Amino acid sequence: MLAIPALCWLCRLPLHLAHHGLCSSCLRQLPALPSLCPCCGLPGSSAHLCGRCLRRPPPWQGLICVSDYVPPLSHWVQQLKFSRVIALRVMLARLLLLKLLTKRRCAQLPRIDLVLSVPLHRRRAWQRGFNQAALLAKPLAHWLGCEYREGIKRIRHVAAQHRLSARARKNNLRGAFRLEMPVSGRHILLIDDVVTTGNTVAEISRMLLAQGAASVHIGCLCRTL
Ligand SMILES: [Zn+2]
Ligand SMILES: [Zn+2]
Repeated sequence: MLAIPALCWLCRLPLHLAHHGLCSSCLRQLPALPSLCPCCGLPGSSAHLCGRCLRRPPPWQGLICVSDYVPPLSHWVQQLKFSRVIALRVMLARLLLLKLLTKRRCAQLPRIDLVLSVPLHRRRAWQRGFNQAALLAKPLAHWLGCEYREGIKRIRHVAAQHRLSARARKNNLRGAFRLEMPVSGRHILLIDDVVTTGNTVAEISRMLLAQGAASVHIGCLCRTL
């Protein structure tokens, strides 16, 4: 039987390395990120903290993203949410891995020993059948050679964040999560597919650091800039 060659997700040409998902030429042509603050992940100098982080640092130590919320990443994130295409998940996780390895080379990322993902509420997870953040986190933990756990539970269904004011959104998330494992002294990578306001990852980061985590870095596919 002839094997069907894997095709690049963008140009549809056969791939040399099937598991990469993108050919090297399309990988180079993904929209370039502007220079980003290493802590909040918003535009700024990549070498030091931005003014916002100096005044009011976010409750995590660093944020790594693959792209702004623009095509083709925004399109793939939508596909990831509503389809079960495994090849897409591996390709997207690898894009994030490449960013993480670059950060580590620049000494902006400690050696991660635990990968966690932002949980969905039970009801939503049941409707969808999977959690897209967990789909990314599992292969990442494998490649980084560390543990992945579903150690965070969403105990409260947080309704319609987008209808609330900024302050109400923050309060709306208070007490929405519960940690179900010890994290003391561990360097944690927290995975979400998209970070917009950062309120959700901020709430979880505060909880992890309050429980003694050594550091929390956020890894996401898209950061709305
Ligand atoms: Zn291609
Ligand atoms: Zn910043």
